Amino acid sequence: MIADLARFVAIPTGHNHTPGLETFRAILTARLEALGAKAEVIPGDPRPEWLTESTDRDRAKAFEPPPTVVCRRPIKERPRILLAGHLDTVFDPHGPFQSFTLSPDGRTATGPGVVDMKGGILIALVALEALEKMCIPVSWSFLLNSDEETGSYASDRALRAEAARNDLGLALEPALPDGGLVTERKGSGQFLIEAFGTSAHAGRDFEKGVSAVYALAQAITRCERLCDVSRGLTVNIGPLKGGEATNIVPDYAAAWGNVRFPDSTGADELVRGLESIARSFSEAASGMDRAAGSSAPATPSQEASRHPRIRIRHSIARPAKPVTPRTRQLAETIRSVSEALGAPLPFGTSGGVCDGNNLQEAGLPTLDTLGVKGGGLHTQHEWINIESLVERATMLACVLAELSA
Ligand SMILES: [Zn+2]
Repeated sequence: MIADLARFVAIPTGHNHTPGLETFRAILTARLEALGAKAEVIPGDPRPEWLTESTDRDRAKAFEPPPTVVCRRPIKERPRILLAGHLDTVFDPHGPFQSFTLSPDGRTATGPGVVDMKGGILIALVALEALEKMCIPVSWSFLLNSDEETGSYASDRALRAEAARNDLGLALEPALPDGGLVTERKGSGQFLIEAFGTSAHAGRDFEKGVSAVYALAQAITRCERLCDVSRGLTVNIGPLKGGEATNIVPDYAAAWGNVRFPDSTGADELVRGLESIARSFSEAASGMDRAAGSSAPATPSQEASRHPRIRIRHSIARPAKPVTPRTRQLAETIRSVSEALGAPLPFGTSGGVCDGNNLQEAGLPTLDTLGVKGGGLHTQHEWINIESLVERATMLACVLAELSA
C-alpha cells in the first residue's frame, strides 16, 4: 500500500492538471475494471465564469471542465453502495510540494494529497479487492471526479445522477483528527458583489464622479450584518478589487465572498439578505432622483450615472448536510463495525464541505469521512498516519460487507 500511495502522490493532479488527472484516472479505472466493473466517463460541465477572480482569469482559461468516471459493479438484491472519491488536490503541479516522503520511523509520510484523498482512494481500492478475493458480494459503484477542491461544478450532474442510482453513499475524505466520523456539515455558497459608478478625474471633476469603491465598501459593511455566528450563519469577504489609479474616481469595484449555513433555511436567509443589499442601492438611487425634483428630467443614462449600482451574483453549490434518520442509522452501523474492530468511533460536525453535501442533498444517505487519518490538509505539511492505511481499509471492507449482508 505504501508503494501504491507513493505512486499516486507522485502524479500531480492539482489545478486541473489534465495529464496527471488522466494518468491517475486510467490507473484507477484499470484496477476497478479488473474487478469486473464497467466504466463510464461523464463529460464535465462548465462553472460560472464570475466565480473566478479576475486576477486568475488567465489561469482559469486553462480550466476545461474535467470529466468524471464512474465504475459500476452492480449485484442484484444487494443495497447499491456508492463510493465517492476525488482525484484532484489543491496543489500546484509546478509548486515546491511534490514528493512523497516517508518519515525515518515509517509511521507517517508527507506529500500533496497524501491524506486528502489519495490515501482514501487507495484504501477503497484495497477494500474492494479484498472483498473480491474473499468472494463477499457487494454491489458497488465508484465515482471519481476531478474538481472537488474547486466546488464540483463540473461533476455536480454526475454526482446527482449517481445519487439517484444508489441506496447508500460513502465518501473517502480524511477522518477527523480524533479518527471520528463527520455526521453533519454546514453548506457553502459563493457570491460576487460588483459596484458600478462613474469615473472622473479626482482633481478636476471629483463631483462628477461616482465612486464604485465607496459603494462597494458600504455593501460589504452591510454583508457583515448578515452574519449570525450563534446560528452558524457566516459571510466572509475577499478577495477585493477596485480602482485603477489614485487620481481617478473608480467606476468599478468587486468583492468575492463565501457564505456558510447549517440548513436550507439559513441559506435562503443569507441569499435574501444579499439580494436586499443590491435592491436597496437601486431603491436609494430612484428615491434620490425623485427628491431632486429636477424640472428637466434626466435621461435614463444620466440618471444611471449619478448613483452607484450594485449587482450581486450567488451560487449555492454545496447545500447543507444535516443529520437525517437514514444517515444516523448508517453512522451507527459504521460505528458498530469500528468498535467490533477495537476502534471507538466518535461522531463530529464540520463547517467544511465536500461531495457528501451534494450527494445527500440529491437524496442519497451519505457519510463522507471514511478515508485515512492524518492532518495538515491543504498545506505543505499534509501528512498521513501510515498505520491508518490498513486500519481504515479493514474498517471500510467490513462496513461494505456488513451493509451488504
Ligand atoms: Zn478532499
